Order: sequence, then structure tokens, then C-alpha cells
Amino acid sequence: MSGVNASGWRPEMGSAEAGGQATASGDKALMLEEALIFELGRPDTYGVDIDEADAEPIAGLARFLRQQVPALPGLSEPETVRHYTRLSRQNYAIDLGPFPLGSCTMKHNPRLNEKVARMAGFADLHPLAPQQAARGAFEVINELAHWLIELTGMHGVAMTPKAGAHGELCGVLCIKAALQARGEDRKVMLVPESAHGTNPATAAFAGFTIENIPATAEGRVDLEALKARLGPDVAGVMITNPNTCGLFERDMKVISDAVHAAGGYVYCDGANFNAIVGKVRPGDLGIDAMHINLHKTFSTPHGGGGPGSGPVVLSEALSPFGPLPFTSRQADGTVLLVEEEDAAAAHPHSFGRMAAFHGQMGMFTRALAYILSHGADGLARVAEDAVLNANYVLRSLEGHLEAPFGASGPCMHEALFSDAGLHEGFTTLDIAKGLIDEGFHPMTVYFPLVVHGAMLVEPTETESKAGLDRFIGSLRSLAERAKAGDDSLKSAPHFAPRRRLDETQAARKPVLVWKG
Ligand SMILES: *Cc1c(COP(=O)(O)O)cnc(C)c1O
Repeated sequence: MSGVNASGWRPEMGSAEAGGQATASGDKALMLEEALIFELGRPDTYGVDIDEADAEPIAGLARFLRQQVPALPGLSEPETVRHYTRLSRQNYAIDLGPFPLGSCTMKHNPRLNEKVARMAGFADLHPLAPQQAARGAFEVINELAHWLIELTGMHGVAMTPKAGAHGELCGVLCIKAALQARGEDRKVMLVPESAHGTNPATAAFAGFTIENIPATAEGRVDLEALKARLGPDVAGVMITNPNTCGLFERDMKVISDAVHAAGGYVYCDGANFNAIVGKVRPGDLGIDAMHINLHKTFSTPHGGGGPGSGPVVLSEALSPFGPLPFTSRQADGTVLLVEEEDAAAAHPHSFGRMAAFHGQMGMFTRALAYILSHGADGLARVAEDAVLNANYVLRSLEGHLEAPFGASGPCMHEALFSDAGLHEGFTTLDIAKGLIDEGFHPMTVYFPLVVHGAMLVEPTETESKAGLDRFIGSLRSLAERAKAGDDSLKSAPHFAPRRRLDETQAARKPVLVWKG
């Protein structure tokens, strides 16, 4: 396979100068070059017709606000459409191929979900519509809430958080409110070394001091170290389960009991719930709060494709402190939205609001469509297939890539590899860049931090065996090239619209402003 990418091209065929010949346009057949919009546009061109009488006041206002004519690029409508469509063709999407990004759960977005979300009754509903006009939407929110509570074995759920990290904040604010209600001012949040970066960030944002709990040699939370640190200053722990090493935290119930005995609360980062949905109920593990990423576990589009949604399931102890508004089924069977006005009677201990309106309605409809189309048995199968696929990847790369916790037993939904064993001077980044040439989005790299040169691969359950074999073939080939010291890998990608970028510069000093 060496030197041939997944679609069978050889480097010399696909190189920037096809057959040694550069094109006059810069385009290469279907690989289209595109300049910055500032280089294409002219300040005096409009995509729409503006009346002279209207144009001057607009320009005048802009001049007044900025003290100069803004150098906005003007393009005609077809030029604008082409600019963005050409750019979109340089992008990679879940509809083009797999996204093996560990922790991100980039799975196929079923078209049925899209159909349901576009139904006019949902899609055209305004968030300020009066309650009587939005009954169907509240019914959907309530039904989804019911499923999330059932699947997790928890007591309540806050539906409004807009993403996983926002859900973490919601859960941690519930913990803070519960401690305040007890008249306690506990300051420390314990977070394992392998935690997702959002966990310590959330706890710090909510005013807690972070203390790390080390991992054991087999990649799980060090139970003894955690127990030893518990005390009257500890508000709680934030633990990801399954964790970011792709392993199930087997001691979760023991951890929860110990934290509760010491007066703290247990936050579980549920971003990896897709590995255990229908199999394990976090409520049975003593968890007090856990966010669910609808855009991961329940297949709603994310990344460039759509907004997130991070409902938080809550234990009986934390439910009274959850945010407003929430839906509630009345004695007559209708679903009502409980807002601030009703709060004094219905929910007096709520810490407040997480969002202006009722949550990500478009994601609720998609997630509920996904849940109902799978059913309880289908969701359990999702977890089984996600875990099966990850273990297939893990075992298929044995002898090619080092798996630091390969001996800790089967992995959950993601397989973790390290850069141990690569030829001197070759890194995880070289493998990731090589994957681009192979036609795949790279895996998650250099995370979790507990593993040197980590490569975290999450295939998800929606990849077929044939698709996985293709990916494994590419990864094996790249691993062998990196072990053999094949120098061409160090300058990959060779076939992408851009070669290897200085990623620090691109992040720290992005060129966003036209200096023309
Ligand atoms: C994705 C993820 C988060 C954050 O979720 P967002 O929806 O991106 O805010 C937190 N923890 C883990 C383990 C994740 O994978």
C-alpha cells in the first residue's frame, strides 16, 4: 500500500503540478483553488440592487461609525455563491467519509431526523409563540426529557443547555446551589488527569479550585488517591465515564459512595454515553449530574454542521436546583412550560436560567426522531456496535501501532494509540497528516494528555466493516511508513489543497483582515 492513497492514486498523479504541469487557472480539474473574498471583491460592487437614495445613507452611516468607508468586499450574487461553494469543496464532511475523531462521536446523521426537523410545525415555530401555539413542541421536549431520564435512570433533566460544556456548567451550578442551600462553601473540585479540557475549565469558571487526581497505570482513576483527598473542602468530582482513554471506570459506584459519604457531589461527563446507552444507567452508579451531548450520542449534526445540545440529567438531590424553564405534564395530560412566573411555587430553589429560550429545538426533534426510530433495543445495539467497531480497530492495529492500555481489557467506543515505536523524528502529527492524503479526516491527536503522542480513534457504530477495513489499511500503511522512517511522510499532506501548515501560526495569527 505504501505510496498509494485510499482511492488508488499514486502521489505523482495527484500532485499539485499534475504530471509536472501547473494549470494556468490554478484549478486542478475538480480541485478548485479559491482566493480570499477580500482579493475577489470590489468595494463598489453589490450583490443586490440598492437604490442610490438608500445607498448613500447606508454608506454615510458606516463612514460615521468607522470614520472611513469600510473596505467590505463587494461581489455579485453568482460570484458570492461560487466563492462559498468552491470553499466548501475544500472541506471534509461526515457525508464524504469517516471522521475518526476520538471523543467527538462523529456519526452519520440519519436523513429521517432531518425530515422531521424540517416539518413546518417545528421548523417555523417562534420561540416567543404563546404556550397554546407551541403545545406540540413542548410535547416533543417533554417526551425527549422522559427518554433521557429513562435511559439514564436519573430523577430529572435540564433541557436548555446548548452544548456539552454548557451542560457541565449547568450541573456544576446545581452542585454550587445545593452546597449553598446547606450553608456550605466548599471550594475544591477534583478532576482526573485524563479529563476533557472542558471539565476543569467549567469548574474554574464556576469559581472552584481544581485539583487533579492521577490515573493508574491501566488508565483509570486512582481510587485510593481520590479517597485520600476527600474532605470537608471538596465540593465534588468531575469524572468522564467511559473515560477519555476509552475505558470504563469500573469503580464508579465506589467512587460515588465515597464522595457522597464525604458530603460532595458526583458530576459525570456523559459525552461518551454512546458507548453505554441502553446498557448502563448512570443513575445506578450514584451520579448526581451528567450532560448528554445530543450531537454525539443521539446523532444530531455537529462540528460545522449544526449547533450542539447538552441536556443535563440530575439526581433527586440536585433536581430541585435545576434551571428554568422546564416542561411538565399536567393532570389533564397537556404539557406546560414552567417559567419564572411559576417558579416561586413550582421550583423555588432553581439557580436561574441557562438560555434565553427553551433549548435547541431543532436538535430535540432530531434526537427524538433518532431515539424513536431505534427504540430501546436499537439504542442498546448502538452501544454494542460502537464498542465492537472500536475493538476491531484496536486489535487490527496490533503490531502496527502501540496501544498503551491495550492490556487493560477491551476498550469502549474508542481506541487509544501512542507514538511509541515510531522511527526517530516521526510523530503523531505525521500520521495525522498522512491520513489527510489517504482521504480521511485525522483522528484526535495529543489527547488525552496522559499518553505521549496520543492518537484517539472513535469509529462509531455507523461505519461498516468494509469502511473500517479501508481505514485500518491506511493507518497500517502510515504506521509502517513512520516506523521505517519514510521521509515523504514528514511533509504530508501532498494531495490536499494546502500542504503542511504552521498550526501555531494559523491559530495564533490567523489572517482574517484584508490589508489591500
Ligand atoms: C465533546 C466533549 C465535551 C464537550 O462537549 P461540547 O458539546 O463540545 O461542549 C466534554 N467532554 C467530553 C469527554 C467530550 O467528548
